[in-house]
Amino acid sequence: MIKLQNHYQLYIDGSWQSGSNNQIMQSDNPANNTPWASFDCANQEDINQAVIAARKALNHGFWKNCSATQRGKMLFRLADLIEENAEMIGRVETQDSGKLLAETVSQTKYVAEYYRYYAGLADKIEGTVLPIDKKDMHVYTTHQPIGVVAAVVPWNAQMFLSATKLAPALAAGCSVILKASEIAPCAIFELGKLIEQAEFPKGVVSIVTGDAENCSAPLTSHPDIDRIAFTGGTETAKKIIQNSANNFAATNLELGGKSPLIIFEDADLESAANGIIAGNFGASGQSCVAGSRVIVHESIAQKLMEIIKLKSQSIIVGDPLNVETHLGPLCTSKQIQTIEKIIAQSIEQGGEIIFGGKKIERKGNYFQPTLIHCPTQNIETLKIEMFGPVISMIEFNNEQDAIHIANDSKYGLGSGLFTKDLSRAHRVSQEIKAGICWVNTYRAISPIAPFGGFNQSGYAREGGKQAILDYTRTKTTWINTSDDPMINPFIMR
Ligand code: NAD
Repeated sequence: MIKLQNHYQLYIDGSWQSGSNNQIMQSDNPANNTPWASFDCANQEDINQAVIAARKALNHGFWKNCSATQRGKMLFRLADLIEENAEMIGRVETQDSGKLLAETVSQTKYVAEYYRYYAGLADKIEGTVLPIDKKDMHVYTTHQPIGVVAAVVPWNAQMFLSATKLAPALAAGCSVILKASEIAPCAIFELGKLIEQAEFPKGVVSIVTGDAENCSAPLTSHPDIDRIAFTGGTETAKKIIQNSANNFAATNLELGGKSPLIIFEDADLESAANGIIAGNFGASGQSCVAGSRVIVHESIAQKLMEIIKLKSQSIIVGDPLNVETHLGPLCTSKQIQTIEKIIAQSIEQGGEIIFGGKKIERKGNYFQPTLIHCPTQNIETLKIEMFGPVISMIEFNNEQDAIHIANDSKYGLGSGLFTKDLSRAHRVSQEIKAGICWVNTYRAISPIAPFGGFNQSGYAREGGKQAILDYTRTKTTWINTSDDPMINPFIMR
């Protein structure tokens, strides 16, 4: 492929460079299927260079010797730069991924808060003095940076998903090789320019992209990686775990989902309909926490479908750069083919299309907002992550039934419920096997709140205070405070 006018290079060891085998990829704008940018791809040689630089930055110079407070100040500076450049980054991400400009800009501004949250935590990682059960011993723990981190992110929210890894890793004193998805990586290269501007020492952050075989696999299986922070699909995660057998890297996995959204008979139907639309048509449904299994009490199902149908008629589908647009294109044309196939299968199994169900015939990867009514749990669309604007609705007749349907999934990432009954809200939210439960709201996030899943949605928790400890190792130090010499070397103390 050839270089386009908008061309991005790899950022390795503090310099912008081409890939060592000169492989170039192009990014199509999903709104018109036209290539709008190109970028260099990394291979094994480039990965080796980035890992050596990351190790060097960790063991020598400013990054090794600076205080945690200084690290925090650098992250605050980066946060300010991200906020100041949110409009530009949002524009790049929108052209690259098709996500709405209104969302990419506001999300980038909010991403700055993740850097600020962990900047503030940098000098609050405290060890403990242990009340040890032995005389004349002073024993304490400290948390040391875990080392070189490989952060691998998918295309659907690259700025956000890199912040949840980079911010705690850098605050803890690690160095990071960030592997942007080969689909829509350009906003991450813009982030690289800000990292350079914030004057992080060279090698502390390198940014690469490329395909799985030549870039991501060599990175995650590199013998000198200490932690892999991965967000992506469940099948890819299985390969990441295999790759980590080469380096014994501790691994964070944030994976896919098929999140249940239960609507009880006492729910405010207007609010529930908005929650369902937010959970399924927000980001055109390309969200790991899409509330795509809508489980509705049988007494209100018909009414709720009518409200959603009516609301969907006023959804503005179109150019994601236009701030009036509600629903933009899907990132890749391949997603449309997958969605069409699953819908066809679901209809054969008895699913009924209430509205939508088809690709929109215009330039770009547009798909109609869709609602499928599923008479049983045995319908494909209730099981598979669609990554498109598709609601699958199933009915229930009592609370236990609703919980049973909600938990009938291999995933367990997000979940939600709408009810006015406070006791039921607490009771049911505890019964759902998922890492997050939103009650009378949906798709809310914060750097203060842990985010992550159960089962095949992975086992990491990103966000929140605890996440910073993932990027540290606990060291226990024993000090003998007695002046007496050590006696009998043949017994354990
Ligand atoms: P993906 O798994 O195909 O790719 C994710 C990343 O892994 C990319 O950078 C890719 O290059 C890399 N990769 C692919 N094959 C690899 C291999 N063999 N070895 C090492 N790395 C490899 O996922 P995607 O299609 O880009 O993203 C969509 C998925 O991500 C969905 O399943 C979605 O639910 C999930 N996701 C999860 C969260 C979360 O926080 N839980 C957030 C967003 C997206």
